[in-house]
Amino acid sequence: MPIILEASDLKKYYTMGESVVRALDGVTLGLQQGEFLGLLGTSGSGKSTLLNLIAGLDRPSGGTLKVFDRTVNEMTRKELSMHRRKNVGMIFQSFNLISTMTARENVALPLMFAEIPAAQREQRADQLLESVGLSGRQLHKPNQLSGGEQQRVAIARAMANSPAILLADEPTGNLDSKTARGILDLLKELHAREGKTIVLVTHDQALASQYVQRNITLLDGRIVSQVPA
Ligand code: ADP
Ligand code: MG
Repeated sequence: MPIILEASDLKKYYTMGESVVRALDGVTLGLQQGEFLGLLGTSGSGKSTLLNLIAGLDRPSGGTLKVFDRTVNEMTRKELSMHRRKNVGMIFQSFNLISTMTARENVALPLMFAEIPAAQREQRADQLLESVGLSGRQLHKPNQLSGGEQQRVAIARAMANSPAILLADEPTGNLDSKTARGILDLLKELHAREGKTIVLVTHDQALASQYVQRNITLLDGRIVSQVPA
């Protein structure tokens, strides 16, 4: 399988007054197309920082990051916004749905930015909701859905523009263990069914190992171990 993502000596430093936080301190990592990677590490080890750089939400302080042979850290603002829209989909522990919008509207939102006509957006949103097991929930607002259902809506939204890479930042952190398994089963299904490349950040090594193909552990912004699951 071709390499879809390549990070070389990737760094992200934050300057806080007099001190410098080395959130990422020289990460070198290749990701194959269609790979399901687990990213482990204690709180503060740099997991979200790495995901945010891959997603193009933040710029590195050093090193290089290539996605599809394009260097993300050299992209113009316009190219970066295209990268965010086309290449990556992201889900979070806190779901980050818009509370005033229905499930359908939440999922359709990225399609609006992609300038897809309204009727098509709605149709695609409903298809996506069905694919995450939520047909019949199109008109529900987030507070009318369970945590697991909200995360399914967020996954459908992340998949809206058919991104090459799905980045999941502790997606089961707010869910009970049974619901968490349901979400990981869904990610695994997307991986198997659509060959989606997935990076899954989690605390739970034992659980992650049942789903991912390879685990990487970060500590203080560096990779300290790589194990095939
Ligand atoms: P993780 O997701 O593994 O818990 P993070 O990537 O969020 O860790 O954070 C890594 C380190 O960088 C932490 O020490 C955190 O406090 C610091 N950090 C993260 N974001 C910022 C920021 N915007 N400004 C300053 N420090 C930050
Ligand atoms: Mg984090």
